[in-house]
Amino acid sequence: VDRISSERRSANMAAIRGRDTGPELAVRRILRSLGVGYRLHARGLPGRPDIVMSGRRRVILVHGCFWHRHGGCSQAAVPKSRPAFWQEKFAQTVKRDTLNLRRLHEAGWKVLIIWECEISDAKVVKQRITSFLEWARDEKASRARAPAFRIAGEAGPSRARRGSARP
Ligand SMILES: [Zn+2]
Repeated sequence: VDRISSERRSANMAAIRGRDTGPELAVRRILRSLGVGYRLHARGLPGRPDIVMSGRRRVILVHGCFWHRHGGCSQAAVPKSRPAFWQEKFAQTVKRDTLNLRRLHEAGWKVLIIWECEISDAKVVKQRITSFLEWARDEKASRARAPAFRIAGEAGPSRARRGSARP
């Protein structure tokens, strides 16, 4: 038997379905409390990102720690049963995530990743989201300022490249 609790398993299944997971609902609540409009799972974008703010050209990805392999996270332990099977699954997910991030980035989208385990501290998540969105506003005034958050591997704020969204 895999050493995953039934609670964890149902969360994993929700993650597989790809929508309306507890963590995502929590992030949506925070956005509503900030008065920020968003779309869900926009089909036209790479990987159908969880939460899309088109006008701000921002997306928020709410990643389950288990499937998306949150580095160093206790929730990302590899199941003891059939480790090779899981490693293969994880490798596919991480590869897909990396590709989607790159495509979003190339199309001029800024991405904030919020990990499932971070949701427990709503105050911190709210602060991160605020910073992420405020940068969008400041960006219009001055592109010189660095973003508070950016995706891994991104060298810095990218210029131009806007409006070149891929299918
Ligand atoms: Zn985590």
